Amino acid sequence: MNKLPVLSIVIPCYNEEEVLTETMKQLNRLLQDLMGERLISDESYLLFVDDGSKDNTWEMINKESEMNPFVQGLKLAKNAGHQNALWAGLMSVIDKCDCSVSIDADLQDDHNVIRDFILKYWDGYDIVYGVRKSRTKDTIFKRQTAKAFYQMMIKMGVNIVDDHADFRLMSNRAMKNLQQFKEVNLFLRGLVPLVGFKSAKVYYHRLERMAGESKYPLKKMLAFSMDGITSFSVTPIRLVTTTGIIFAFLSVLAALYAVISKLSGNTVSGWTSIILSVWFIGGIQLMSIGLIGEYIGKIYKETKQRPRYFIDKHVVNGQKKD
Ligand code: UDP
Ligand code: MG
Repeated sequence: MNKLPVLSIVIPCYNEEEVLTETMKQLNRLLQDLMGERLISDESYLLFVDDGSKDNTWEMINKESEMNPFVQGLKLAKNAGHQNALWAGLMSVIDKCDCSVSIDADLQDDHNVIRDFILKYWDGYDIVYGVRKSRTKDTIFKRQTAKAFYQMMIKMGVNIVDDHADFRLMSNRAMKNLQQFKEVNLFLRGLVPLVGFKSAKVYYHRLERMAGESKYPLKKMLAFSMDGITSFSVTPIRLVTTTGIIFAFLSVLAALYAVISKLSGNTVSGWTSIILSVWFIGGIQLMSIGLIGEYIGKIYKETKQRPRYFIDKHVVNGQKKD
């Protein structure tokens, strides 16, 4: 490489006023250091994406962009969710940088390893995944549920990188490949490995959230995992079919049993067994219909091809762009 690469760091923010000042300070310092070390071009910048926050997040981003030429802001018209906000940021930096790094606003993912990401980029890697070596700072509940989720996804045949969240570097051409995925239900962790190209992993320790609380309460986390599974795997539907086959087989045995009982004159019908099977089979059926409905719901959403997000404004140097 004879020209220094332009790096854009994309940070989705939702109600992050408590951490933003510190995050801006630390990321800015890192950016300056990397420029000083001549690892990235002086045209590199930070892009804060405000995902329809209700607090002062946008005002803070806007103010910083006025004072700091290395800070840009993108304001979404309403809350679109982490994945969509990240996507909005990445798509807006395509062709305006040589590589991008995405990182959460709370800096739970150690931003100092971005330097290693860049070194990998210099070595010719198009995608660099940040992988958590330890997450002792997360609650036991979060750790266990996340672990179970990753393992389940991998078992279901989804190609995701274990213990990697959305902290990664992508080259411009990798982002262009990513852009070609048109699905509305975004699960970037599953999509990025499908992009191809040479990829590397960089390990780090996951830190504590600097301030504020997680913007991923249990309800959002469950919805996110359900999205991940149903967007990438048809294994649950296959499980339903397998259960159906097993029960069909069992019902033949039950019929045989009933006939033999009848022939042997032992025809006292058991209310308990009937009621039990009605409830049991009913339950399985409802569950199966629900699961299939989940996929049909996805097809319904995908066929509409609704826009994933709306941009309100994009500011550079405090000035509105395009
Ligand atoms: N986030 C967002 N939109 C949302 C929810 C979260 O842009 O609707 C951002 C949030 O500001 C943060 C990142 O997504 O930068 C991850 O959220 P958080 O750190 O709360 O999740 P956790 O680390 O607890 O999984
Ligand atoms: Mg976090």
